Amino acid sequence: MYGSGNQPIIVLKEGTERSKDKEAQFNNIAAAKAVADAIRSTLGPKGMDKMLVDTIGDVVITNDGVTILKEIEVQHPAAKMVVEIAKTQDDECGDGTTSAVVLAGELLKQSESLIDSNVHATVITNGYKLASAKAIEVLKEIAVKADDKIVKKVAITALTGKSVGGEGDYLAELVIKAAKSVIDNGKVNVDDIKMEKKVGGVIKDTYMVEGIVIDKERVHSRMPRKVENAKIALLAVPLEIKKTEVEAQISIHDPASMAAFLAEEEATLKGMVDKLKSVGANVVLCQKGVDDLVQHYMAKQGMFGCRRLKETDLESLAKATGGAIIGNLAEMTAKDLGKAKLVEETTVGSEEMTFITGCTNPKAVSIILRGGTEHVMDEVERALNDAIRVVGLAMEDDRVVAGGGAPEIEVALRLSEYASTVGGREQLAIEAFAKAMEIIPWTISENAGIDSIDTIIKLKSAHEKKGKDGRYYGLDLDTGEAADMLKKNVVEPLRVKTQAITSATEVANMILRIDDVIASRRGPPMNPMGDPNMGGPGFGGIGGMM
Ligand code: ADP
Ligand code: MG
Repeated sequence: MYGSGNQPIIVLKEGTERSKDKEAQFNNIAAAKAVADAIRSTLGPKGMDKMLVDTIGDVVITNDGVTILKEIEVQHPAAKMVVEIAKTQDDECGDGTTSAVVLAGELLKQSESLIDSNVHATVITNGYKLASAKAIEVLKEIAVKADDKIVKKVAITALTGKSVGGEGDYLAELVIKAAKSVIDNGKVNVDDIKMEKKVGGVIKDTYMVEGIVIDKERVHSRMPRKVENAKIALLAVPLEIKKTEVEAQISIHDPASMAAFLAEEEATLKGMVDKLKSVGANVVLCQKGVDDLVQHYMAKQGMFGCRRLKETDLESLAKATGGAIIGNLAEMTAKDLGKAKLVEETTVGSEEMTFITGCTNPKAVSIILRGGTEHVMDEVERALNDAIRVVGLAMEDDRVVAGGGAPEIEVALRLSEYASTVGGREQLAIEAFAKAMEIIPWTISENAGIDSIDTIIKLKSAHEKKGKDGRYYGLDLDTGEAADMLKKNVVEPLRVKTQAITSATEVANMILRIDDVIASRRGPPMNPMGDPNMGGPGFGGIGGMM
């Protein structure tokens, strides 16, 4: 490090901040724990909701870990890494995001005392890796088969605790119906289930339609409200005359050429409708604008038309009806038309929507969400999305585990046994991992106002005493006692649990391996995390991280 004459060689730019070794580790751990602390009060069915208000005053009320973390702006690089696992968990499973983050926070918290007593980070991360692999082995072993009855329990579990009022059972049936309608080769693709929200009514008015529903009414009142045996043109091009990009002026000097000009415009517009008619379209769904005159001609031809569809709607429609999205009207042929038995404008609440049912591809369904306010519906939509995802996972993998802290306690107990067989310093890390698993039942209990220490003792003793059946014992929130969670309808897909453990371990290990943080004060250059915000106030600590 020193050059001749013992002059320190300064390689870092002035203003660069650096923290090393334990200081760096503890800073990062503190930041990661802060993220976990921010959402732990939402864990479990009795978890609280959070109200998030953004800079322009928009409000989101949610209980969903990933939604919260996406909304709040986290600055600290280690905190960002934790937020990333919530996103990964959400992408992979659609559920278990809070658990993954809370577990990651706890794994790091448990590591602190090991670091303090000079256990090297490499030893800890190795121990955590062994423990994580073992935990997944145990989970696979205690998983049970997902028959129809169990799948419904999975849906109910995903829906309880979200603000869906008392409609969990009704929505669970709906979720299963939707998942079964779209399942293809054993896979449920959530994108095949379209959600449309309409304020009004109550949650129980939510229903499923076999087909695609778009939030548009027909453009002209003289168009038919209903077209049977629909041949549908899906247009990504406008049915109007393009305005010139640059401000242009056309000077017309005599009335005759004015008339000619208008006639030509009219002919062009009429030509569009003629073209659509010639290929056999009786329904026209257009992503762009539709000129008044075109609307008039379409109505005259008895066509049904909507304009300004969302691009995603057009894509869903193409998939459902087998039609092609048209980028050039002149080249369109009859083969490009999509087909559906019925296209109909229907009143939902006090507004009109267009229902496209009896599509060529029956694996396309829509759910019309109803509810008192936007906020209620948004949260119901998130809950339904999660539920569809987990039901899909349960159907795909055919493997589920009990919830309510049962698997975490089983894993904790089995890891403690396993630790003694490993020996060495890794043993300490495996024991720390086992202890960290308890954070899930601990927090569910805490959030329900039940004494967490009692809960852990009761659960452990049930698992130890009841032999094989004990493994399903989790926290019964009604009684505060240990109970068989399979019987209590608290069931989750195996993959939600294995993924949560995998990603929590990965991020904890990644953070533990960092022993040197070098951050430039301002501006993007020289920045280890590739994060321009890093030089902001509160570097290295948790101050100003959110
Ligand atoms: P996550 O974002 O991790 O899915 P949740 O708030 O959905 O967070 O809480 C999930 C945890 O709550 C899981 O451990 C699950 O087993 C548990 N849980 C869900 N329903 C119940 C219930 N009725 N009784 C006890 N625990 C439950
Ligand atoms: Mg959940």
